[in-house]
Amino acid sequence: MSLYKTDAIVLRHYEFDEADKLIVLYTRDYGKVKAVANGARKTKSRLAGGVELFTYNDLLLYQGKSLSTISQCEIKNSFAKLRSDLFKMAYASYLAEVVNEFTVEEEKNESVFALLLATLHLLNDGGDLEIITRFFELRLLNLLGYRPVIDICVECDKELAEVKQLRFSSVAGGLICPQCSKVDQYAMRLSKGTAAIMKRLLTIDYKKLDRLKVPNRSKKELAKILPNYLQSIIEKKLKSLDFIKTLTIVET
Ligand SMILES: [Zn+2]
Repeated sequence: MSLYKTDAIVLRHYEFDEADKLIVLYTRDYGKVKAVANGARKTKSRLAGGVELFTYNDLLLYQGKSLSTISQCEIKNSFAKLRSDLFKMAYASYLAEVVNEFTVEEEKNESVFALLLATLHLLNDGGDLEIITRFFELRLLNLLGYRPVIDICVECDKELAEVKQLRFSSVAGGLICPQCSKVDQYAMRLSKGTAAIMKRLLTIDYKKLDRLKVPNRSKKELAKILPNYLQSIIEKKLKSLDFIKTLTIVET
């Protein structure tokens, strides 16, 4: 049993005992970690601010027999706008849920940590929340070995530059040509422009993301294709998608 220090982002928290919270963290040095924050449910707790959703902390943790306990926390960025703006909250919740579902405990991946942190910054600062989220999905898929195949048909390797009717197959993990469309009856149509934007999102520097112009049609196509692909990989529904959908309906 020992003390350890790491940067961490709060993905989830649960009520745990009368005064405590159980926190799911994504840490820079240990990947996903579950830890107890003693007394965090009391408003005067010195840990209360640091265990708010999406908060970025420098933590000192105590490794117990089964669970870690948060011993000290120093807030590096509270990302307050992610909790005060409902839309930002919805998208940040989705990011947190995706990271939680796609990672296992104590498997370090600094690139995933850096991606999550950079994307929370982007959401917090504003910009197009949908595009920021699509960027995150594609980059996470890439980091975890699920990069979708875009240049060639994932089934028959045919070059797609001259192919007009493209579909995205979640099961196959990429674009398929018309001849291969029978392999996945649920494959979704997408325009060539959308395929080009997916490619761009896989390489673009996140600092230049706000300069990327994405037509509404592509935004709509990607908002279906990518969450669907993510859900098909984990074979599970991502619950925060309903939150995003509800807000979008209220807005329009
Ligand atoms: Zn094909």
